[in-house]
Amino acid sequence: KPIGERVELADLPLREDLRGRTPYGAPQLDVPVRLNTNENPYPPTPELVADVTRAVAEVAGGLHRYPDRDAVALREDLAAYLSTSTGVPLTGRNLWAANGSNEIIQQVLQAFGGPGRTALGFEPSYSMHPIIAAGTRTEWAPTPRRADFSLDTEKAAETVDARQPDVVFVTSPNNPTGQSIPTRDLRGLIEAAPGMVVVDEAYAEFSSRQSAVSLLADYPGKLIVSRTMSKAFAFAGGRLGYLAAAPAVVDALLLVRLPYHLSALTQAAARASLRHAAETLGSVAKLAAERDRVAEALAGLGFDVVPSDANFVLFGWFEDARATWRSYLERGVLIRDVGIAGHLRVTVGTPEENDVFLAASKEVDR
Ligand code: PMP
Repeated sequence: KPIGERVELADLPLREDLRGRTPYGAPQLDVPVRLNTNENPYPPTPELVADVTRAVAEVAGGLHRYPDRDAVALREDLAAYLSTSTGVPLTGRNLWAANGSNEIIQQVLQAFGGPGRTALGFEPSYSMHPIIAAGTRTEWAPTPRRADFSLDTEKAAETVDARQPDVVFVTSPNNPTGQSIPTRDLRGLIEAAPGMVVVDEAYAEFSSRQSAVSLLADYPGKLIVSRTMSKAFAFAGGRLGYLAAAPAVVDALLLVRLPYHLSALTQAAARASLRHAAETLGSVAKLAAERDRVAEALAGLGFDVVPSDANFVLFGWFEDARATWRSYLERGVLIRDVGIAGHLRVTVGTPEENDVFLAASKEVDR
C-alpha cells in the first residue's frame, strides 16, 4: 500500500470550486482495436523515426542547459508549414507552441480568462475547454448547438453579444460531432465578440474547408487559431500544440507560460517530424476516404450518422449508449462514450481496424 493512502481527496484543503469535479478520463485500455482518442492510426515511417532519433541524439549532449525558451526555430518551422497549407503568409512571430494544444488553451485562459472572467463554448464540443476553464477559474458559459449539432452562427453571435464573454471557443471541425464552420459564418461571431475568439482547429487537416487563419489579417486583436500535431501529424505522443495569432497575443502568453515549458527533446523531435510533413499528411486523404466509407456503412446498417469532415464519426441512436460501448469493448473494439445521449464516437482507423469495427457494429446491442 502506498504511504499516505488513508488520506482521501475530500480530506485535503482543495479549492472549493474543484470539489466534486471529475478529471478528464478517456479510458486507456489495451485492446486490439483502439478507436477512441482521434489519433492517426498510422505509425511514423522508419525514415521519420530515424530522423527523430538523430535529432534527439544531437540535442542530448546539451541537456545540461535549458532549452530555447521561445522555441524560435520550431516556431519558424511551424509558420512555414501553416503558411504553405493555408496560403496565408505567417512568420515565427505569429506562432506559439506548447505541450499539446491543451496547454495552448490553458495559457490562453490564464492570460485572457481567469477569476471574474467568462469563456463561452458551443456544446456539445471538446470537453477540455470547460475543464481548463475550471482549472483557471474562468466561468464557463455553455451554449447549446442545434439538435442536429450544427452551429446556428447568427444565434451564436446574438448570444455572444448578450453574454459579453471574455473568450469564445469555436471548435472547427467540432469534436465530437464532426462538422466545421465556414469562415464567412465566423466573421459575424468574431465581430460580435468583445474579447478573444479561439478557433480550435485540432482536426483542420482532415477538412477541405478554408482555415480561420485566413481571417487573422482582418481580426488581429481578437482571433487565435489553435492547432495540434497530435492528429493528422501522427505526433500525439510527442505533445506539440501551437497557435497562430498576432505577435501581441504571443507577448500576452509569455506573461503566463512557465519558463522552458517546451523541452529541448520536444522541440527537436517536433522539428524532425515537421520535416516529414508531406509523407505523414499523405495519410490524411486515405483517412478521409475511410471516414466516408465508415459513415456510409454505418448508415447502411441503420444507424444515424452525423456528417463529419474530421477523422471520427458520431453515430447512434442507442437506447443505452454505455451498454453499447461495452458491447463493442467485448468484441475488442474501444470507441468513445462522449456523454451525448444515444450516441457514440468512433475514430477512423486503418481499413482493417475499420472492418473489425463495422463487423462488430452488426452484432452489438442497440
Ligand atoms: N482540441 C480538440 C478539439 C481536441 O479534440 C483535442 C484532443 N482530443 C485537443 C484540442 C488537444 O489535443 P492535444 O493537447 O493533443 O494537442
